[in-house]
Amino acid sequence: MALYIYNTLTKRKDEFIPVKEGEVSFYLCGPTVYDYFHIGNARAWIVFDVIRRYLEYLDYKVKFIVNLTDVDDKIINRAREIGIHPNEVAEKYSRAFFEDCKKLKINEATFNPKATEHIKEMQDLISVLIEKGYAYELNGNVYFEVNKYSDYGQLSGKKVDELIAGYRVEIDERKRSPLDFALWKKAKEGEIYWESPWGKGRPGWHVECSAMSMKYLGESFDIHAGAEDLIFPHHENEIAQSRCSTKGDFAHYWIHIGFLKIGQEKMSKSLGNIFTAREILDEFSPESVRLFFLQKHYKSPVEFNKGVLIDAENAIQRIKRCYFSLKEILENYEFKEDTINNNNKIDLDFKIPILNGMNDDFNSPIAIAKIFDLVKFVNEKIELGNFSNDEIYLLKEAKNLFDEMNTFFDIVPVKFEKLESTKQLIDLLLKVRNELRKKKEYELADKIRDELEKLGYVIEDGLYETKWMEK
Ligand SMILES: [Zn+2]
Repeated sequence: MALYIYNTLTKRKDEFIPVKEGEVSFYLCGPTVYDYFHIGNARAWIVFDVIRRYLEYLDYKVKFIVNLTDVDDKIINRAREIGIHPNEVAEKYSRAFFEDCKKLKINEATFNPKATEHIKEMQDLISVLIEKGYAYELNGNVYFEVNKYSDYGQLSGKKVDELIAGYRVEIDERKRSPLDFALWKKAKEGEIYWESPWGKGRPGWHVECSAMSMKYLGESFDIHAGAEDLIFPHHENEIAQSRCSTKGDFAHYWIHIGFLKIGQEKMSKSLGNIFTAREILDEFSPESVRLFFLQKHYKSPVEFNKGVLIDAENAIQRIKRCYFSLKEILENYEFKEDTINNNNKIDLDFKIPILNGMNDDFNSPIAIAKIFDLVKFVNEKIELGNFSNDEIYLLKEAKNLFDEMNTFFDIVPVKFEKLESTKQLIDLLLKVRNELRKKKEYELADKIRDELEKLGYVIEDGLYETKWMEK
């Protein structure tokens, strides 16, 4: 089964053929660390986490790089607002980024390079562009000259003439063209800066991703990803400066995810309709957030409100109940391997359609729908209660498929279940025990306490409630 990916660069689904056989080099434009990330950002981190893990599931060795933009106008402004150094802002929100990703069950990247630790690489890239005649210095700033790169606009489908016509005339504009973008920005008074051949300043944002992606993945690599609003100008500019400074052709597959709207509106600070991932995770499980986004194709725009997560949460409970019933049955029934009549039903009806969905441009809604078909199928089998040898084998295959799919979707909350169910069970036993005590059936009530103590739990009867803890 070949994997096809919609490539923004070619505007079609291309078969995925990596630069190096068996390996994937994958760059994702990471966060600008000036605030907690919002639910729209969470969509990107989740979608690309699933894509990365799916590639690993397909047995590729994936090198997954997610940068941290830790110097930027937004960080500088934020630092000014709260009266601390920009580095403190960046450190605080970098930490928050990793914490929130962990809560969302997003696997760590292979490496998270920071912009401020790659200033030298960026300056080298800029120097090469100046030497080759693609960039020019102007009063302490360095600009990329868009007219020198004839393929400009290939990714976004924009035409240079139309772009120029769209610009208002700027006063004191000394750039050679209004489209020329900054590779190096002269430092303003009191602003954070680095020394450079062009004076004190800091890198432009676009050059950061070119320098870091090529440092870790090479001049030609496989996948470059981000949100749709990065196509222009960020990714268009990255392509221009990268291809002009090297012999490589930069990223081969460009993947972009659609917008997230809150109701009918685009989410924005000025509209005050931003939910941070943090506040959403106070109310909802990470599995429900993951499921909600995976039920939409990554390229589609998504309308978000808290109501949709209530539905997702219910759906997660359905999967969870099914999975744990399966587990329980399989722990209690044995089957004889040699007498099995294997009809490959689970593979044919569920696994292959799920993988076909994922191989068709990561069509997770199709795959997720099949997982719910599997839930229904398993629940029906369990309800019938006919646990013959063949039926148990079928259930075993079903559980294996849940486990396998969970390696990239991560929507079955398998790890926390034990702890949670133990707590529920003890609470239930103590409730029964209190009922017994009310009825003065002390012998049985004491027996429950003693048995729990043997299992390692201390029971304390207070005036109003009974508490328990592990010894
Ligand atoms: Zn970027």
